[in-house]
Parts: sequence; C-alpha cells; structure tokens
Amino acid sequence: MIRFPQFVQYAAALFLLLTVCTLSQAQPVIPEAAILNYDLAISFQLREHLMTGTARITIPPGNGLALSLTGLEVTGTLLQQSNGREQTVNSGGDVLILPEDPNDRTLFISYRKKISQHGQENYIEPDAISLLSAWYPVPQTPVLFSLSAEVPDGFEAITESDSFPLQKIGNRFRASYSNPTTTIHFIAGPYTLASRTVRPGLDVYTMFFSEDQALSLRYLEQAAEFLAGYEQKLGQYPFSHYVIVANRLPTGYGMPTFTLLGQTVLRLPFIVTTSLGHEIVHSWFGNGVQVDGATGNWCEGLTSYLSDYSFREQQGEGRSSRKENIVKYLSYTDTEETIPLADFVSADHNQPLAQNRRAVGYNRGVLFFHELREKITTASFTDGLRLFYKNYNGKSASWQDLMHSFAAAGGKNLQRFFDERLNRTSIPELAVENIGVERSGTNITLTFDIRQLTDDPFVLRVPVRVTTLSATVTKVIETGAAKQTVNIELDDTPLTLEVDPDYTFLRRLSDNEYPAVLSRFLGAADKLIVTTAGEEEKYQPILSLFANEDTIVVSADEVRNKDLGSRSLLLLGVDQLPVTTLFGTVHRPAAGVTVDVRHHPLVPGKTAVLLSSSSRQESAAVARRLKHYGKYSFLHFSDGRKTKAETERTENGIVIPVTELPDGGATKEISGFDGVVDKLMENRVIYVGEQHTSLSDHLLQLRLIEAIHAKHDDLAIGMEMFPVTSQDALDSYILAQDSIDEAAFLRQSDYFNVWRFDYRYYRDIINFAKKNKVPVIGINLDRQIVSGVFRDGDTDGLDPQVLASLPKTRDLDIAGYRQRLEAIHNIHQSGGHGSGFFSGFIQAQGLWDETMASNISNYLKQNPTTRIIVLAGAQHTRKDSGIPPRVARRLSVQQASVVNISGDSFGAFAPGLADYFFISEAAQLPQLPKIGVVLVSEENDQMVLKVDSVLGGSGAEHAGLKKNDILIELDGRQIHDMIDVKAAMLDKDGGETVAITVLRSSREIKFNVELRPELPARPAGHP
Ligand SMILES: [Zn+2]
Repeated sequence: MIRFPQFVQYAAALFLLLTVCTLSQAQPVIPEAAILNYDLAISFQLREHLMTGTARITIPPGNGLALSLTGLEVTGTLLQQSNGREQTVNSGGDVLILPEDPNDRTLFISYRKKISQHGQENYIEPDAISLLSAWYPVPQTPVLFSLSAEVPDGFEAITESDSFPLQKIGNRFRASYSNPTTTIHFIAGPYTLASRTVRPGLDVYTMFFSEDQALSLRYLEQAAEFLAGYEQKLGQYPFSHYVIVANRLPTGYGMPTFTLLGQTVLRLPFIVTTSLGHEIVHSWFGNGVQVDGATGNWCEGLTSYLSDYSFREQQGEGRSSRKENIVKYLSYTDTEETIPLADFVSADHNQPLAQNRRAVGYNRGVLFFHELREKITTASFTDGLRLFYKNYNGKSASWQDLMHSFAAAGGKNLQRFFDERLNRTSIPELAVENIGVERSGTNITLTFDIRQLTDDPFVLRVPVRVTTLSATVTKVIETGAAKQTVNIELDDTPLTLEVDPDYTFLRRLSDNEYPAVLSRFLGAADKLIVTTAGEEEKYQPILSLFANEDTIVVSADEVRNKDLGSRSLLLLGVDQLPVTTLFGTVHRPAAGVTVDVRHHPLVPGKTAVLLSSSSRQESAAVARRLKHYGKYSFLHFSDGRKTKAETERTENGIVIPVTELPDGGATKEISGFDGVVDKLMENRVIYVGEQHTSLSDHLLQLRLIEAIHAKHDDLAIGMEMFPVTSQDALDSYILAQDSIDEAAFLRQSDYFNVWRFDYRYYRDIINFAKKNKVPVIGINLDRQIVSGVFRDGDTDGLDPQVLASLPKTRDLDIAGYRQRLEAIHNIHQSGGHGSGFFSGFIQAQGLWDETMASNISNYLKQNPTTRIIVLAGAQHTRKDSGIPPRVARRLSVQQASVVNISGDSFGAFAPGLADYFFISEAAQLPQLPKIGVVLVSEENDQMVLKVDSVLGGSGAEHAGLKKNDILIELDGRQIHDMIDVKAAMLDKDGGETVAITVLRSSREIKFNVELRPELPARPAGHP
C-alpha cells in the first residue's frame, strides 16, 4: 500500500542523467560550490488540465547548470548575463546544460504541462491538483526553492516550505524552503486545515477534504504522539511542521514536512496506527538523512523496522512479524534475478519484479536491522541511530555511513556482518546434526552440531532453547564456521531442542516452520494454472492477473500428471480431476470466493492453491486485491469482502525432539479381551493392523476374528494380502461347495508372487474363514500399478483403462500423510532423492490406500448388514491418515482401529493412530524346515522340478538324493512346481520325516528324508 518515497526515484534518475551528460560533454558539469536559487511561479487552467510555469534560476559566477525537462513543453528560454546580454538557450530535447561561466547569469524557462490522463503521479482536475513528478525543470544538484502558485478560489496549498500554513496573498501562495533539494512537490485543493501543537516550535496539521473532516482529530492526536515519541528516541524532528495531506490519487508518500495519503487510504482504519507512523519516520530517515542513491537504499528497511515492525513488537507480536518478513522474503525471491540488499534502490509497484525488489529492500531490510540490534544490544542500536541522525541530518548517507555509526555506538567492528548481509544474495541455512545426550557421572550434556548449508558460512548468533523435564535452558551460539559443535550442560533429561525459535535473523525455513501461504504461490517462478472445462469465463478476472507472467495455463482435461507433480499449482474450481486426485472431495460454500493454500502433496517445498468462485462477479471483486493477502493460508470472500482469513499454524524454530517420552495409561482402565471385543462390536469396520512378520499380530487377528464371528456371524474379512484380481481364487477356496485344494488356491491367487510373506502367518485365518464360510475380500491394488507409478513418478504411463478403473478421489493432503511418507522416502533414498521420485512414491501410496478404502466401502454398500474386519499393515490401518478416514469420506460408518503392542509392533502405537490396543505375548513362527536340496524348474513335456544340488549335511544327502533327480511326489502329493512344494511343506516341522519320490533315469525311487530346521552353510544363490 505504501509506496517508497519520491526522492529515491529522483536520485536514481538523476544519477543516470549525470552519467550521460558527463560522457557526451566530456567535461565536468557538477558545479563545485554554490547552491543556486530557484524561483518557480505556476498557475493553472483546471478544466484544460493545464499548468503553466516559469522557472527563474540564478547562477553565480563559476557555476554551471543541468536540468531535466522530461515531460515539459518548453515555450521559451532566456539567459540573462550580468553584462546585460540576453540569449535564448537551445534546450535540445529533455536535458538542458549550461557549462560553467565566469559571469553572473539568470536563466528563465517558461513551460506548460498538460495532465489529461492522470496516472499515479500527477493530477490536475477541478477538484484538486497534485504534482509529484516531472512538473518543473528538475535540477541535477540541490537548489534553494521558492514557489509562487496561483490557485482557484477556495483552494489551500502545500509544498516543501520552512513554515506552514503558506503565506497567501489573494489567490497566490508563496513558499520558500531553506533545505537545498532537487525535488519538491505541490498539492492544492478545496482543503480544510486543522492543527495541534506538539511542542513549542512544532505543529501538526491535517489537510483533508471536507467529507473526511471527521477523521482529522484522530490523525492529529496520533501524529502528535508519534512525533513526540520519535523525537525522544531519534533526536529533534528536522522541520517546524508536519502536515497530513489527503490525495485524490491512492498514494502513500512521505515528503519533507508532509505526507500525502490517498483519500481512500486515509479512511482505512489501520492506517493511522501503521502507515502514518512509517511516513513520519521518513522525516528522520529519507527526508532528514537522505539516501545516497548511488550506494543503495538503506532507508526503507530502517523505516519499516522502526515503524511497521516496531508497532507489532510493541503489541507482543515481534516474533510473528519477523517470521512473516522471512516468509515473504522467501516467497518472492524464488528467481535468479534477486539482488543483494546493497543493490536495492526502489520498488515502485509498477516496475517489473516490484514484489521481488520489495522483498529485498523492505523484508530483508527489516530483518537486517533486527539482527544488528540483537548483535550490538538495543541500547547501542538506539545510540547508533541517534549518532547517525545527528551526523547526517540534512545530508545524504550510505550503508557505510550507517555501519560506522553503529560500530561507534556498539564498539564493535561490523564490517564482516555488513558485507555478508549486504553483498550476498544467499541467506543462512541451518541444519542440526549428530544430536546426542552424554551422561558422565552426575553430568548430563546435550551435544549437537549446527551446520551451515550455504557455500560460505555466515557469522551468526544462533539462539537455541532446550526444554528438559524441569526447565528451559537458552543459549546463544556464536558461529562463523560451516560446522559448530555445541555442548549444553543440563540438570536433567532434554526433551526438545529448538534452534532460533524466535526468528532473530533471516534464514531458510525448515519444512515444519514454513506455512503454506498465498505469497509462496504468487512469488513462485514455475506457476501452472489448471482451469476447469466450461468455467473459464468465471475465472477470467483471476487468470488475467497472471497474464504478464511466464505462467502455463492448461485445462484439467489436458494437464499431465507429470506437470502437476513438478510445478506450483493454482487449481481454478474444485470439481476437476487434478483437485480430487490430490485432495479428495473438496466442499465449498455456495457463494463467494474461497482461496485455500496447501502444501503441494507431490513436491516438497512447493504450494498448491485451490481457488473456487461462485461467479465472475465474485472473482472480479477479489482479483486485484489478492496480492495483499499473501500471508494467509485460507481466505473466503463474499461480495469482495473478506469473511475469513487464517494462516496455517507451524512450528517456531527448527524443532528437534531429543527424547520421546513413552505414552501410558491407568492399568485399572485396561479391560480384558472380552471387554475390548464388546466395545469393538459397536463398529461395522474393525481394522487390525499388523507388522507382516509378527506372529503375535496375526494371532491377535485370528482371535479377534473368532471372537467377533462368535457374536455376529454376518462377517467378512478384508485382506491387504490379496489384490482384487485374486477374488475368484479366494471364493473358490473359501466359499465354494466343492472347493479347490490349498495348493491350487495358492497358485491361482498367485500368493507367492504377490505377497511373498510366509503363508503360515495367514493360514489359520484363511482356514477359519473356510471352515465357517466367512467371505475373504481381496482389497489390494495390483502390484504392477503401484510399482509403475512409483517408478515413473507420475500416472501418465498407466493404460487409460487402468487409469479409469482407479478411484477418482484421492486425498494426499490428509494431515501428517505427506510428512510421514516423506520421512519414509528420505530414509530409503537418503542422498540424492529427487522430487520426481517423491511424487511417484506418494501417488503410489495414495492409490494403494484409496483403492483399499474404495473396495471396503463398496463391499459394505453391497452387503448392508455385514461387518468387516480389515487386515493390513499397521501404517494402512492408522485412523489419522491410513484407510479409515478414506472410508469415512465415502461412507458414513462406525469404524475402529486396533493395534497390537508386542515386540515389533510396539512402535506403531501412539494415541491418535488407533482406538484400541491389545497387549499380547510375543510369538514367532518356527523356521520352515528344509529338505536340503536346491530345486530348479525345467520344461520337458511339462514343468518339472529338478534337483540342482544337494546340500551337505542335510537330510536329503543323508537319504541319498542326487543332482538331476526329478521330484514327482512329496508325502503323497503330486509335485509340478515350487508352489506344490511350498504348499506340501506348510504343515511340516523340523525333525519330521517326509516321503519323497523322484525320477532317476526314468525309474521311480522313494526316499524318507528327515527335515532339518537349520542348515549350516547355504550355497550362494540359494532360492
Ligand atoms: Zn517508506
């Protein structure tokens, strides 16, 4: 809202002009000594939007002059010399240059300027005049201005002047200003003046239009309070008056002696306590001490720090404000064109990269001054400011001058501190490594390394906070190294370590600290906008906001999954496949605009914005203002009015859990098995999570199935272990009158290829189902689909028919889901994991969970009285982010999730992940006993199994089996392949003897082979 002040722009423009002049004239044009007197007389024809003016500039002997005439229609020039000679001067374009001359001279320039199409700068209309830019011949070096302006009846006027109100004779105002400057402004209109005395010699005024007069008192009071407060803090205010002037144009400028705030801006209720303060601080910094335009603009960062930031700090919101500054900086600097702080000059809203420049000049600037204050103490920081103001008031100053003032006040050498933060585009990035707790005797020491991930480490003061069972210990780590080892002595066990929890300096944020907010999308360099077919018109006002950018716009029907998985997203409308396959079903209010910013589920570190609107009108009412809401994660607007605005809550600081305290509960509240089963009976879906190789978990599953079946035999068992394609095999084995045998079932269901875990874990469950005719439902997705998506990183490679068969609503954004999968993914990929892989990993997992949820809810819909027990991995049965919430999305049904606390499964338990737990004895499957042969399949007329080798010391060797024997029978079962062998061995224990028939040289030979549980040495490549 508030734009940078005018003087900076001029300083930059004139610097360029000066350079050009020097080159073309090949002689110095900078006058050495004298400050010229510059008298300007102006008058207006408002209906013609016209001003006419005459500048009279007195040039003492030995001086030259350079003027910019840009934007002026020069109607005449006259140069009078002391000897009486007069001549016209060729103004040759936009620049007029008079070289040095030994004589006294006076230059007259008459000109006109017409403002028929006013922009943000100049305005000449019957209801007011504001002249801010290129409205008089602008000198390149400071002069002493005096102004005479003829205005219509009833107008009041203001310009930079020594005193206020301006002297008025008839309709002519006169002003003179004894601070040399290149830049003045002129404002006039039918204003009402009101005033208040701050102290003797300092008055504050409002110059408002009559319709806003009611606002005057509040502005006068607040301005007086600000002026008194800042005088106390910074030193005496540099002028005799301060005027708050309303402007017809929506500006926010701070000029010497006055501020020009748009009429509509003034009416916003928060301006009087925020922007007004900012503009008043510019009286000291910007207008008192001016910016040396050639060496970078320090003043916006400093002014924002002393006003906007300081006000938040006074309200106890210092940390939030600093964090917002960091988030905004990170949001808008996602481009290679980001400049270092020293290169910031200005950030006009209209210039390209304005937001990027503002992020540097304002946000990085604020954080720079805060870090400096932390480094040298608040007292030294204030002393430094006072010293700087005292030494440079009325002059221009550079970053170097600031550094010397603070160095003098704080007694520290600040050269490296300033160099690193002013001249580098990179910012600190921290990681904490090698965390450990050492106990020696009675001492407890927390040790860890702070690593800086930037190429060159910064000199930093890093506050750390350790929370122990009894206390909070804080410490500031001073580091300038890539790796700093820290030891902190503690009195008891440390629970958490927080690094920079209060945001004392600008740094990269870790994932858990970085909220998904709108500015992150707005500042992204890789935007992809996805439209919904038939709704383009409704979103046109939003789309047009991005028309000038390198943004890809594509319709939901055509967007590739690969692109969704690699770019920052704006999804227009929520009834489109990209939304439902990433975020599930999304509901929105019937009217208005909703902006919902999410962490991109497929790409860590990026955002996806779900924007929905009920009409083009609603879109249009919001579009232009969207960029002001960058700090929010969720917004709703109705008729253009904001009705809801929330920011995602994130951690503060880099937070590292050091010691996990175990969960517990009251033992008297623990129920016996039957008690829990009674509770479970209230649910229609009961999940029993497992570690696949924990026999204890499978025994619990079996017991629960038995117990629940005894109470309610309209039961089904849903199993992750079988894909949907196994259903015929399951039914033929379990339900059919004339059922297939176990080996045929295992073959038809392809169990050993699909699931691979020892079938004995599930065998008793399947057999119980078979005996009691309890349907077993294969709920899993085909393995090839999951692995294809995982491998490719996207779903683009799936067969269209397969794609069409998958669930269309898939919520990858359930709280904690992405973080959990990211952690798993990082473990598997540690070092060199690409985000493309993650997008495949999370989508494969999502397809898996959603497919199982979809199969369960479909079964329940088709069998409305049936209860189902779901057996799946403990991650899938989590009630927070596994299958249960996905079933709930599809069907209103009572569900309970159960975990077993025993051995392996223990880690799966934490409150919120399951509803009930059982504490079971640990159990292990006996090892599969071995015959002691390596078998290979061979195709003769049919498939046969041939002995490839006989293991030394095995039962097979002892019995006399030989290489090349063909296995044809095992305990009376015909053997054709490995599945037959595996099925035959399921019932065997070590020490038993099996009858084996082999074919050796076309002769059948029978052996009795003793099974041995463990064999000493396995040959390499043992199957
Ligand atoms: Zn400013």
